[in-house]
Amino acid sequence: MIKLHDKYFKPFIAAEAIDKVIGELVTKIANDLGDEIPVFVGVLNGSFMFASDFIKKYPKPCEITFIKLASYEGVKSTEDIQRLIGLTQDLTGRTVVILEDIIDTGTTLGEVHRIFKNEHVASLKIATLFHKPEAYKKDFKIHYVGMNIPNKFIVGYGLDYDNLGRDLPEIYQIKETKHMTNLVLFGPPGAGKGTQANFLKEKYNLVHISTGDVFRYNIKNETALGTLAKSFIDKGELVPDQVTIDMLNAEVEKNADANGFIFDGFPRTNAQAEALDKLMDSKDSQINAMIALEVEDEILVERLLERGKTSGRADDADESIIRNRVKEYYDKTAILKDFYTNQDKYYGVDGVGDIEAITERLSSVIDTL
Ligand code: AMP
Repeated sequence: MIKLHDKYFKPFIAAEAIDKVIGELVTKIANDLGDEIPVFVGVLNGSFMFASDFIKKYPKPCEITFIKLASYEGVKSTEDIQRLIGLTQDLTGRTVVILEDIIDTGTTLGEVHRIFKNEHVASLKIATLFHKPEAYKKDFKIHYVGMNIPNKFIVGYGLDYDNLGRDLPEIYQIKETKHMTNLVLFGPPGAGKGTQANFLKEKYNLVHISTGDVFRYNIKNETALGTLAKSFIDKGELVPDQVTIDMLNAEVEKNADANGFIFDGFPRTNAQAEALDKLMDSKDSQINAMIALEVEDEILVERLLERGKTSGRADDADESIIRNRVKEYYDKTAILKDFYTNQDKYYGVDGVGDIEAITERLSSVIDTL
């Protein structure tokens, strides 16, 4: 990640990928133009790197010239285009190919067409390295597109954010999401994750997602997901990864404005942990910490049997199912300690004692993040 002025940007398109796209554009254009000697017109400032790399690869004789326009202010394309340097040579009867670094709204392209209206060129073709189809508001034909990209602000490879970033050899994309605090509350069944999450979500203004609760809600409402999950839950087994991951993604999407999340009961496998990292990445965010409540097995079984007297949960009522849930934890879930330790995000907390005292222990970890 890099910072330019006040904004953060993340790596988006590597230098090698840019090079490959330019190679493909060169091949297409050279094939189409045959033996014509074209005049390539780079649109400054942004296209200087693209134009330079492009003509270095161009396999036949060609000419290059530049026009200089300015349309960007900060990170927004403005309607107001300034023509800083226009055409300086006669292009009558020539084949002209405009080299644009990026076409988004198409406003600059409008100005380009205005410039060429009275030039009597034989043909005018538009080539752009990047194109944002979602932002494009004009009807001008774009003859060659290197790569379509989402409508997010980018810098690098000639493109700038208020004059910084043009020198970067690769493309970076803006990080737009506000800062979130995302916690994985970890531990075996009965460790007290749900109880503690209820305190922590209030204290830190976070959204609490318990996959067990979401499954139970679905079972109660007899949804298709509930029916599927029930067969696993009743035996104390884990619900299949893809089902759980899809459900978790949907729960996160429902809370797009959250300050952050407490994930309780998720992830429980490596595949789920990887899916969670991917999901956080897509939100320009990350998991800040896995906080594990450490409790001995016999205390867990005791606690769950006690809870079973009132919780109404079938998987709390039977000691052999409880022991199977604890076994599933050690067989499949406990390895996640390594996953988060490797990312330097694992924090173990003693989960035995007063509820309030445990909340304090968890808070003192969260406050250091
Ligand atoms: P919990 O309320 O977290 O103890 O979850 C109750 C049951 O729901 C578990 O024993 C599993 O069958 C299922 N479950 C909850 N979360 C997950 C998950 N992340 N992956 C797979 N199964 C889960």
